Amino acid sequence: MSQKKTADGGGKKARLEREHLFRFKCYPGVSCFTQCCQDITIVLTPFDVLRLKNSLGISSDEFLEEYTIIIQKEKQLIPLVILKMNEEDKKCPFVTPEGCTVYHDRPWPCRMYPLDMNDDGTFSLIADASRCLGLKESDKWKISDWLSEQGIGPYEEMNELLSKITVPLNAKGLDITNPDITKMTLMALYNLDKFKDFVFKSTFLDRLEVEPERIEKVRNNDEDLLLFAFDWIKFGLLGKKVFGVKQKPSETTPSNI
Ligand code: SF4
Ligand code: SF4
Repeated sequence: MSQKKTADGGGKKARLEREHLFRFKCYPGVSCFTQCCQDITIVLTPFDVLRLKNSLGISSDEFLEEYTIIIQKEKQLIPLVILKMNEEDKKCPFVTPEGCTVYHDRPWPCRMYPLDMNDDGTFSLIADASRCLGLKESDKWKISDWLSEQGIGPYEEMNELLSKITVPLNAKGLDITNPDITKMTLMALYNLDKFKDFVFKSTFLDRLEVEPERIEKVRNNDEDLLLFAFDWIKFGLLGKKVFGVKQKPSETTPSNI
């Protein structure tokens, strides 16, 4: 099965709740198989990048360089990271005639297809049944069952946690003029290998109080590292007291003796 996000063809689409049913079956025998894995815009979340770079066994740097286009708009802190289609045929770099080669770690929009989630938490069918022939199959899915089958749960959880950064940052309308801040934000969210070096190879842990158990988790698990990056952004840009600041020895030692 191969899924991804296509352009919205326009017009109002029905808003569906999780208990609604829709007809769908995607499988190698369907004549449109993998047609939807080309000429599409897939916006990657930090969790998508984490899963894909680990699936491919490459570093975040290599993944960003080889497979993405990063659009950093002026004064916008969080960049758009888009999966780069092949130049020659506009196909996804991970599609083969047999299907998706990163299926287990495919990005969120690919898992959702042919559905998309609306801002109010409802769902819409975004595929056109004349091109996505799986929508003409007789199999019926309850949306909640479909989401579960597609392994959407961890993606939804990470998206929810990410929104706790992006929503307040957008609301604050920060006027970011310091390019170092945008670079550090990009690194923390999308270049986890570099962020890990920053945490463990700089004075980071000398300056901030982090529980030893958490340090070990962050060292050994990329998902914990990403959650730690979310907290670091909350601390640095939203002023949340997620970490304590260590006092310098001169400040902790009584000076009047
Ligand atoms: S049935 Fe739809 S999702 Fe499946 S390959 Fe065809 S276009 Fe893509
Ligand atoms: S990641 Fe997989 S499912 Fe998504 S567009 Fe590429 S080949 Fe298709």
